[in-house]
Amino acid sequence: MRANFDEDYMNLIISIIAIFSLFSCNENRTENNTENRTSYSNSEKNNKENQTDRIKGNKNIPEGLRKLLKAYPDFLDSADDNNLYWKDGTIMQWDDGIKNKTHEEMLDNPDLEDMMSQKYVKGSNWGSPPDENFEPGRIRYEPFFTKMYGSSSGEVQQNLVNVNWLPSICGCTIQFNSINQAAEKMREVSDEIEATLPADLYKYVSKTSGTFNWRKIAGTNRLSTHAFGTSIDINTKYSNYWKWEGSTTWRNQIPIEIVEIFEKHGFIWGGKWYHYDTMHFEYRPELLVE
Ligand SMILES: [Zn+2]
Repeated sequence: MRANFDEDYMNLIISIIAIFSLFSCNENRTENNTENRTSYSNSEKNNKENQTDRIKGNKNIPEGLRKLLKAYPDFLDSADDNNLYWKDGTIMQWDDGIKNKTHEEMLDNPDLEDMMSQKYVKGSNWGSPPDENFEPGRIRYEPFFTKMYGSSSGEVQQNLVNVNWLPSICGCTIQFNSINQAAEKMREVSDEIEATLPADLYKYVSKTSGTFNWRKIAGTNRLSTHAFGTSIDINTKYSNYWKWEGSTTWRNQIPIEIVEIFEKHGFIWGGKWYHYDTMHFEYRPELLVE
């Protein structure tokens, strides 16, 4: 009897201790969570303040860096007069200090400044035919894109999603990169073409000639933006490409109505390049933001 009482008593004490320790554990956990949350939001706040400080405090931030910050808010934090600061701590130089690059050297070995050096003009009054070597968007600082979209076929493919491209005109499924909302913008282009494009212009988009393709630009060591899953080629039947033509004498059949829809959603057109590629549209919001 006595032994049982002791046992019951002990059990009761153990239970009380267990309940108390559980309670105090939870309390600690809650406290920790609150602490973490506070320090997280403080660091978020600091980041934001730093970003504003860096931009406000430095009037010399190049316009091109401001445009990059505006176009890629998921990745970029801030900038000063010669550096771009990524959210993950990476720092990229704006100007590499190399002067007097030829156009070919800029294509092969550009910095961010070279990439943003030619202004892309939206709409129909863009100055066709383009001047010699005027091709905004064709100069690309590759590390900037591989960092966001992936530096191998496998890495890029992890971020590809299916987009129903023009369900009633093409009925195609295309793969596009979901990073930076590129696939979402592609869907918007598709919706707007279906809603607004006159039926006699459907033939230009009723076939697609490809989106994702991990490859280098023919005859170069540079990755095509098709490698990032951020570009689309429309119907080749009505397209002109300087290499196929064997000439840089500008030729084009793509109606400006189609170009303007793509531009509205962050895509530039390869038809506005000296080395023209009129089937080609690529997601480059940094060249379209004001
Ligand atoms: Zn293309």
